[in-house]
Amino acid sequence: MTGSWITRAVFSIWFCLLAVCRFIPTLHDRDELMKVEQFEFTGGNLLSTEKEIRVNDILMKIKREEVAEGMETGKFPPAMHFFRAKQLIEQSRVFDILKKMPKGAALHLHDYALLNAEWLVKNATYLPNCYICFTAAGGTRFHFSLRSPQKRSAKCLQWALLEKYRRQLKNVTEFDNSLYRNLTLVTENPEEAYPSQNVIWRRFEDAFKAASDLISYAPVFKTYFYEALREFLLDNVLYIEIRALLHPVGQEDAGHSLWYFKNELLIPKEAGVSLPFFFHAGETDFEGTSVDENVLDALLLNTSRIGHGYSINKHPTARRISREFNVPLEICPISNQVLLLVTDLRNHPAASLMADGHPMVISADDPAAFGARGLSYDFYEAFMGIGGLKAELTTLKQLALSSIKYSAMSVEMKVESIKLWLRKWDEFLDKVLNMSMWDEL
Ligand SMILES: [Zn+2]
Repeated sequence: MTGSWITRAVFSIWFCLLAVCRFIPTLHDRDELMKVEQFEFTGGNLLSTEKEIRVNDILMKIKREEVAEGMETGKFPPAMHFFRAKQLIEQSRVFDILKKMPKGAALHLHDYALLNAEWLVKNATYLPNCYICFTAAGGTRFHFSLRSPQKRSAKCLQWALLEKYRRQLKNVTEFDNSLYRNLTLVTENPEEAYPSQNVIWRRFEDAFKAASDLISYAPVFKTYFYEALREFLLDNVLYIEIRALLHPVGQEDAGHSLWYFKNELLIPKEAGVSLPFFFHAGETDFEGTSVDENVLDALLLNTSRIGHGYSINKHPTARRISREFNVPLEICPISNQVLLLVTDLRNHPAASLMADGHPMVISADDPAAFGARGLSYDFYEAFMGIGGLKAELTTLKQLALSSIKYSAMSVEMKVESIKLWLRKWDEFLDKVLNMSMWDEL
């Protein structure tokens, strides 16, 4: 008798575990489930002050209006190529607010594409002793020298002193515009100019080389970095981390995988040195290749952050490790779109990561090459396109705070940066409230 009671009890518990006790949502649970989803979203678990709630109301009202306008006109900037969307973004009131917002740190930037290329054209190429050559592929090379460079290569057979060359031109503005195009990827018809990833990467590397010719000249170098820091500061970015270039650098797909270099990469650890790594990984859409697997290998090799991690959704194990061990992804929306990984930024893989509150920061990769400035354009794409209407002020706050948290700063510097950022955040909230007050008058 006792035996059968125990058997029935055990059976009941098993039945409960397997079926009855499992939460089966009904239509009545919709509101609660929506709250859970919003809570899980990036920034969804942050508490808001009364002032933040008021600013969020203003921001979301403008955002909803702009999204509705995009639906109506069929011109929604995150769904368009950045080269065509840029002007529309600059007219956006959300963008105007994002420019004023203290964005914290930009953690994924490359040294020779930080500062708008217009500055290079107007300043560096007007310095004395600047020689130029036009390559057969339509690119340019620069060289500073007291006399005509002796450097000859298949790419550069003839050099001209730019100062002299400009004097014999009828339209110098048009020529300077062509230099700007050579130093960037900007073009009116990107689909035609860049039919494949290989084509755009070769052009990208060419533009990078031309920029490095100018920037690596000592008198340009110092001013270039000063002006680049100023450009980010004007965009309300308080701190940047730069990846220095070791030629050739370039397309992840075209190089060796991290696993290929594992022995070399393990040398510091074997020598007892703690060397932080910041690997690019998974900047590809070729699933299953060794480059695609970089995203897992980067984690196994103890990376501090994952540069792009575009392919991480195809690697649930890597995604889980990245989340559990708090290894953030450096999301660079405009770069991923221009370099042909994604067309419509609403479909960027980071959309599902943001919905899940996955650790991430927003960065600009190579803003100068894409015709952008600072970080606001990428924040706009992340906020409007990737995050959609679920992304609110708390999302922006979380992204900015994460950029400080996941930076390579010391703990003391992080504490000071957070204090400074909080002060600027409060000033920003006041600015938005004042803006809206003027609008209402
Ligand atoms: Zn990069």
